[in-house]
Amino acid sequence: MEVQASMRIPLERSGSVPLYAQIGSFLRAAIISGKLPVQTRMPSARRLAGDLGISRMTVEAAYAGLEAEGLVRREMGSGTFVMALAPSPTRSSAEVPESWPQWQQDLIASCASWHDLPVLDVSSVVGEGVIPFESGTGDTRRFPLADFRSIMRSVLQREGKEALDYGETRGYAPLRRTISEILSLHGLQAGADDVLITSGSQQGLALVAQLLLRPGDSVVVERPTYAAALALFRAMGVRIVDVPVDRDGMRVDLLETALQRYHPRLIYTIPNFQNPTGACMSTGRRRSMVALAERYDVAILEDDFVGDLRYEGRAQPPLKALDRTGGVIYVSTFSKMLMPGVRVGFVHADGPVLKLLAGLKRLTDLATSSAFQRTLHRYVSIGRYEAHLRRSRRVYATRRDSMARALERYFPSGSEFDLPCGGLFIWVRLPPRYAAPELLSRAQKAGVGFASGEEFFVERSSGDRFLRLNFAAVTPEEIERGIRSLGKVIAESN
Ligand code: PMP
Repeated sequence: MEVQASMRIPLERSGSVPLYAQIGSFLRAAIISGKLPVQTRMPSARRLAGDLGISRMTVEAAYAGLEAEGLVRREMGSGTFVMALAPSPTRSSAEVPESWPQWQQDLIASCASWHDLPVLDVSSVVGEGVIPFESGTGDTRRFPLADFRSIMRSVLQREGKEALDYGETRGYAPLRRTISEILSLHGLQAGADDVLITSGSQQGLALVAQLLLRPGDSVVVERPTYAAALALFRAMGVRIVDVPVDRDGMRVDLLETALQRYHPRLIYTIPNFQNPTGACMSTGRRRSMVALAERYDVAILEDDFVGDLRYEGRAQPPLKALDRTGGVIYVSTFSKMLMPGVRVGFVHADGPVLKLLAGLKRLTDLATSSAFQRTLHRYVSIGRYEAHLRRSRRVYATRRDSMARALERYFPSGSEFDLPCGGLFIWVRLPPRYAAPELLSRAQKAGVGFASGEEFFVERSSGDRFLRLNFAAVTPEEIERGIRSLGKVIAESN
């Protein structure tokens, strides 16, 4: 079906809402209400621009926003089409009673692209007794609980008043100094004032997105990539351009075309032991990416969520260490190397960016918990952190090898995976006749979780043969038992 008549979209030309946003919300409402049914071919940007007496760029920006929200699909050479809406429990009439105020009904419509996104990735608990291969963290049983408890007690005893007050928005200064020392181990020359402490690195990502991106902008991500980053970018209403990853990280040879075609404002990359693939970007690609970003004047957001969990081979330089112009914003976290519940991550950036991010952080949560920062500082500064890391590396490397052996043994022939040299995950591709999403509930019934591949793709169906399996959160015994059960579930599904 095609929109034949000229489209009348009421526009407030002198209002404060930009025209592309007005067009976007009109079309969004029309799509969600079904006035523009699935598969409708939208008028070309040129035609709609002519009908409305505005520039083609404005219509392009509105279409780009709708595309980023998954409401339309643009096909080169054939046009822009309305997409099927993903089924959403909150969109069902049972959960949206008509008694709700209109603004609530509208809210659900306007958040259609992201409000029902899975949050499983940040939760390691799917059910009692389920082996948590879907986990996004290290082993909760290895959290240094006793040390942390006694340090926290002494922090509260000795500096309770300060610890329970608001701290500095930028973060507790002694912890920032420690972080700058950790960064120097990675070849990054950062002073304590070049670091902003955030409530987990997720807040770092969100602050950077909020600072740099506007609806209709484009962002380059890896294909596949971290599900909650995709969700974040969808929620911002930006166009997501995905560039494939192979075992050496993002295909930087394909990046330049994307930069030329979409003029993105940001490149989001996870160079070390990528989530979900485990790939580690080669030094050559790191250099090329930084050079390209410089040439095309695009910011890089480097997410180093598990950089310290390397099991073999030499560390590659962070992109930030290759950056001579302040083009890279580096984000990391204590969540994976230590414990996610302390909610301490950090951002390192140059120039005015860090100050602006600190300003935004203040608007978001004033400051990260001072009590936890002080406790973490004492824990990390007395060398226990390094020792904990060394032990974790040893333990997790063994678990990775156990999982690789179990996969060879129990998964159907034709399954493929690369052994990651660090991090938490093995990314498995099943042979063509299998579909991961269909296996999930059966696997959970059999007592095994996994992260299903489609969560990590812009085009979800591209991921349906992939499973992300966490080897670090589970013991070798659980790995053997869990992979055997999973192998059985897969075999029986065929
Ligand atoms: N980046 C990546 C790649 C992640 O996997 C995660 C956690 N799942 C985060 C960032 C955010 O973690 P946190 O906020 O706990 O630091």
